[in-house]
Amino acid sequence: MEDNKKHAILSASGSHKWLVCTPSARLEEQFPDKTSDYMEEGTLAHAIAEFKVRSYFIEPTSKQAYTRRINKFKKEKYFNAEMLKYTDTYLEYIKGLVLENHEKPFIAVEQKVDYSKYVTEGFGTTDCILIRDNTLVVIDFKYGKGVSVSAEENPQMKLYALGALEQFEFLYEIKQIKLVIIQPRIDNFSEYVLSKEELINWAEKTVKPQAEKAFIGVGDFKQGEHCRFCKAKGACEFRATENMKIIEEYKIRTVLDNQQVGEVLTKTEGVEQWLKDIKAYALEEILKGNIVPGWKAVEGRSNRKLVDVEKAFEILKANGFDEALLYERKPLGLTDLEKAVGKKELVQAIGDYIEKPKGAPTLVKASDKRENYTKISAKEEFEK
Ligand code: SF4
Repeated sequence: MEDNKKHAILSASGSHKWLVCTPSARLEEQFPDKTSDYMEEGTLAHAIAEFKVRSYFIEPTSKQAYTRRINKFKKEKYFNAEMLKYTDTYLEYIKGLVLENHEKPFIAVEQKVDYSKYVTEGFGTTDCILIRDNTLVVIDFKYGKGVSVSAEENPQMKLYALGALEQFEFLYEIKQIKLVIIQPRIDNFSEYVLSKEELINWAEKTVKPQAEKAFIGVGDFKQGEHCRFCKAKGACEFRATENMKIIEEYKIRTVLDNQQVGEVLTKTEGVEQWLKDIKAYALEEILKGNIVPGWKAVEGRSNRKLVDVEKAFEILKANGFDEALLYERKPLGLTDLEKAVGKKELVQAIGDYIEKPKGAPTLVKASDKRENYTKISAKEEFEK
């Protein structure tokens, strides 16, 4: 996890942007850091994960001290019970990695690493490092569940590995690198192995030249998936110009043939997201008191709610309204049932009564790994 308070201009977590769009890092400096409930949740989950790994492998903690610390976590604003389960999964996975070999590994958690040999002022913090049997294992805990993150050729992980290599190579003979991403909320456990030579080659041939440009904010802009995570995404002139060009290109068409429909969909893939980003940026500007000609902020829709449910219901009951009138008894949904009963136990008990209906057809790119939609029903498919 990156250090929230102090991070490098060319951070490892931002490398998927500045390695591709080199001016982005300097452009982003004009925009403030933002936080969100998801980010706060992630920070707390990381702290719990770090504590568990540290107390298991590095600083054994008495049962009482362990419980005290966990109870302290439980009082945090962003705590929820699932965090304990998912951080256990993280710890168990690391235990598995440790047991892969007989040799006891060197283990470090929240290890600061410095990759400034290849990237000016480049440093970061890895969640966990293991070194054994000539292998450096770099582990990253991802608490998000929106996008599945792969360890394969992952630049953030590779930059951490470069920093760790610099730091530990004189103590241990390292021949290969294993990158591991543990994303327990979506059962994503991704591993990728590369040789030390491959890593150094990438650092010399790709990272160094791109980082040189990125540090001084020069080079070519490039828009793509990475723009979603760029602080300049709503105000980036290059992105706006590129998307406007795409829209202009198609505005003279009357009736498109399917060849053109495919083309338009492919080319305009990023336009919808860009429009959302530019709208969000305009709203921010207006709320700051700035003028965006032709646009203003208004109050959105909101729903009425009871401010103190218990009190309100007490009053209703005191006024003679029957409980049966005020409460409804509803069976839990499957997700809540799984939480209450347990995934396996639920399938054992009522598996025959669980069915997954056929989903509605959804348009995705031809490269999507899911099977093509067919018109036969879920029942027929099951029987087939
Ligand atoms: S929005 Fe995209 S194109 Fe613009 S600076 Fe950021 S990464 Fe580069």
